[in-house]
Amino acid sequence: MKLASIQAAEKKLLLNTYQRTPVLFVGGSGVTLRDEQGDEYLDLLSGIGVSALGYAHPAVEAAIAAQSKRLLHTSNLFYHEHTAELALRLTEISGLDRVFFCNSGTEAWEAALKLARAHAALLRAEGKKVGTRFLAVEQSFHGRTMGAVATTHKQKYREPFEPVMGGVEFVRFDDVADLRAKFSDEVCAICIEAVQGEGGVRPVSKEFIAAARELCDSTGALLLADEIQSGLGRTGEWFAYQHYGILPDITTLAKPMANGLPMGAMLCTEEAARAFTPGMHGSTFGGGPLVCAVAIAVIDTMKQTDLLAHVRDVGGYFKQQLEWLQSRHDCIVAVRGMGLMLGIELDSEELAKNAASEMMKQHIIVNRTSETVLRFLPPYILERAHVDRAIAALDGILTTQPLNSAAMAGRAPAGEETHG
Ligand SMILES: *Cc1c(COP(=O)(O)O)cnc(C)c1O
Repeated sequence: MKLASIQAAEKKLLLNTYQRTPVLFVGGSGVTLRDEQGDEYLDLLSGIGVSALGYAHPAVEAAIAAQSKRLLHTSNLFYHEHTAELALRLTEISGLDRVFFCNSGTEAWEAALKLARAHAALLRAEGKKVGTRFLAVEQSFHGRTMGAVATTHKQKYREPFEPVMGGVEFVRFDDVADLRAKFSDEVCAICIEAVQGEGGVRPVSKEFIAAARELCDSTGALLLADEIQSGLGRTGEWFAYQHYGILPDITTLAKPMANGLPMGAMLCTEEAARAFTPGMHGSTFGGGPLVCAVAIAVIDTMKQTDLLAHVRDVGGYFKQQLEWLQSRHDCIVAVRGMGLMLGIELDSEELAKNAASEMMKQHIIVNRTSETVLRFLPPYILERAHVDRAIAALDGILTTQPLNSAAMAGRAPAGEETHG
């Protein structure tokens, strides 16, 4: 068995940043992952919302194969064939005007923070009164780099690295009065996730987003919507903000963009884009030919197969089944989410841990976030039959709870500490 020797080597060689579940995956297809013994797992997490078209998707494989024979890298000093093609698609589906490409979620968010600061400086130079402060929301998660952790609420992600970027104040989730009280012309941007992911799968209210939009409009501050997890179809619309009938000034994308290849993007309005001039921001790898070719294949496949409608259909069914489970089990205190970004909040951390590890024993991958929330971020190609299997398994597990937690010891569930 390779797993044991790999575990031992990693323990010695890698930084101690992850608590991995002891499984060695070697392959997969569709919504199924395969371990070294050939055992199959139903994946309801897709690598934290990344493998949206599932594993071994023919369109993704074809795009990688074709581009790998042509060109992998040019740097941003030159043109290549796919940048504009992809940017056109992203502007069409988002309603925004311009795109900056990078390699991960946190980098996209960092670009958004920098653009917001630069835009406010531009407005000041034009005689307007807009400050440099950010408002972010409690329970938010925006990434791991210094600016991103500064706008991330959870203390454990931020405090060890202080001093982080200054000038950030947190607003209580969904509290319009708190938002209004903390907003002023000192603020250059309001940071939101239309549906908080890491924070426990929490869709924000229409009133809160509308108030944020209105406050920003009143001064020229920018509304920043982090769609790194919720974007590109995850909630059944291309962007979660589209459920709310608003347009942010800036949005960020990453996780599902290139179906597993690292890629991020920041999209913005023409007005915000004015603030960046050549040399102010950039990336060596960002928007390279390979990832762009794959991202185009992802978007085109989603359009050709009407995958948004499928996400709404299967996601709606999944949520309805979770609500049915809730009616059977008092330990489920909430069912939340949209499309295939769903979560159930359980009444104890212990139960959530046990439920996730019991699911793993039954070869169904789910994730626990925010201590008590089981999170589901399956591939978009999930079918109702997969939902039925997961619901039956959860029903059985919650029926036999409370489990003996000692028996569970040593078996960490997937994403014991999540980072997405
Ligand atoms: C995952 C995530 C990030 C960070 O993305 P990385 O690619 O891990 O840097 C930022 N914001 C949200 C909402 C996320 O879900």
